[in-house]
Amino acid sequence: MSKRSLRNLPPAALDGQRALVRVDFNVPLRDGAVVDERRIRAAVSTIRYLREKGARVVLLSHLGRPKGPDPKASLKQILRDVERILGTPVEFIPDPATGVAATRRLPRGGVALVENTRFWPGEEANDPAFAQLLAALGDFYIDDAFGAAHRAHASTEAVARLLRPAVSGFLMEKELRYLGDALEHAKRPFVAVLGGAKISGKIDVIHALLPKVDEILVGGAMANTFFLALGFQVGGSLVERDKEDLAKELIAQAGAKLVLPRGAVVAPSLARGAERREVPSDQIPADCAAFDIDRATRLDFRSHIVQAKTVFWNGPMGVFETPPFDEGTRAIAEAMIEAGKRGATTVVGGGDSAAAVAGLEDKLTHVSTGGGAALELLEGKTLPGVAALEDA
Ligand code: ADP
Ligand code: MG
Repeated sequence: MSKRSLRNLPPAALDGQRALVRVDFNVPLRDGAVVDERRIRAAVSTIRYLREKGARVVLLSHLGRPKGPDPKASLKQILRDVERILGTPVEFIPDPATGVAATRRLPRGGVALVENTRFWPGEEANDPAFAQLLAALGDFYIDDAFGAAHRAHASTEAVARLLRPAVSGFLMEKELRYLGDALEHAKRPFVAVLGGAKISGKIDVIHALLPKVDEILVGGAMANTFFLALGFQVGGSLVERDKEDLAKELIAQAGAKLVLPRGAVVAPSLARGAERREVPSDQIPADCAAFDIDRATRLDFRSHIVQAKTVFWNGPMGVFETPPFDEGTRAIAEAMIEAGKRGATTVVGGGDSAAAVAGLEDKLTHVSTGGGAALELLEGKTLPGVAALEDA
């Protein structure tokens, strides 16, 4: 599954050529303003490298889920942010069908941004004719949109089959290395930490990870469903009652690999954090809910994590958005950083998990930018946007 990378293209093949680069600029907007620019920043190293080598850079991305042209989903809204982050003017191409001349006018090192690919129905239909229009905007193709690689769309799949070279950008390369190869051939001990709201969206990930890991530490609301399977009462905690049998199966299958929380931080409600207290997992009061892992669990999980050589984490340990219920989640982040100092490879995947470690990225080996794509890769699925790229 190793893919040819931008790194492997001779610089002479880049100079003066038009690089068609699929990026993931699907950033959250509020009143037309970018509220989190991490996805734009994540593409900078690829774009900067191409510009330095004299390429003309044509950027493609989707934004949101428009049903057709829609000013609220226009990439024009983020043009100034892209210019600021790249430190260069960016030409806007409102329609790929009429954009070829603009791409040819770009100077060496110049950058253009094409309008939201989802404004055209051919994008999500993976339509070959629309892909032809996109392909005409470049001389070769770079895919740096890991977060969109699980979709077979014209700008991620069909277009990659029309241009050569068609290779991964630096972000895509890093995502594949740390979510693919590094976990596939993990240094041991390999510890996975799973949490978040539900088991249901992550069953396939748990099944795929179980045979590979040495231990799987479970926290968050996900743990409540396991508690139910063990016969514990969970009070008003978030729990999936219809997944109790599944949790039983996973407990049997995982055996000693599965490590559940020793206790929980409980409170009558999220708003009443001041009344929180710690209880053993089998003593959650009927009038309370578990909102975090307790201190005993944090220490226990920490001791497993710091001894690992590979740690993968998905899903917060508690309601980290509402302090003081962020403490368990923060303790896991700190333990991973400590493991990293001791030589472990530390990888975080998942939208909320990545938000929970915002600002700590430099202290972790890799924080994935792709939510759904990361989970699908972990499940062992082939991502269409990756499959379409050239093999190394
Ligand atoms: P990711 O996006 O990293 O894959 P998830 O979406 O699966 O993570 O889960 C994140 C959500 O889980 C957060 O909104 C968090 O508040 C919630 N959560 C974690 N633990 C609990 C809990 N004990 N009770 C209620 N919600 C929880
Ligand atoms: Mg989430």
